[in-house]
Amino acid sequence: MKYLKYCIKCGSANIKIKGNNMITCSDCNFVYYHGIRITVTCVLKYQGKFVFSFRNIEPQKGYLDLIGGFVDPGESAEEALIRECKEEIGISIEKKDIKYITSFPCLYSLYNVCDIFFEVVLKEFNPVLDKKEISEILLLDKKDINIEKIAFESQKKFFMSYF
Ligand SMILES: [Zn+2]
Repeated sequence: MKYLKYCIKCGSANIKIKGNNMITCSDCNFVYYHGIRITVTCVLKYQGKFVFSFRNIEPQKGYLDLIGGFVDPGESAEEALIRECKEEIGISIEKKDIKYITSFPCLYSLYNVCDIFFEVVLKEFNPVLDKKEISEILLLDKKDINIEKIAFESQKKFFMSYF
């Protein structure tokens, strides 16, 4: 945020940064709150095991990841989760099967993220991978999950604290 130089409303350079998320413009009086991004993470389970992917893109290429991603403008968290499951691994999930679990903050690249965790239990599992994003899918027992190999802080916290 320290590199923001202009008011996002009127373009004036006459701005002041206050605290860690507030920018005020002395010309148009607009107050900009530099928000967090919301991500959704799907704790997908099949036959008692957790569905993990190997990330094929940066950041954290080659690390374990749960299915999920950013909530896009105009989307609900559930809609984002349904979309990400379809895009990343070709799995169709229904809103009625999505159960909220918890949320954790996380730093993703330069984004301050609030990562919302949902659980979905699958009756069948026939993934079709988006090879650009995911190189492989793993089904892991809780005891076989290596926390050090998990890509993101929020998911590490989830597996360390939720069970
Ligand atoms: Zn302004």
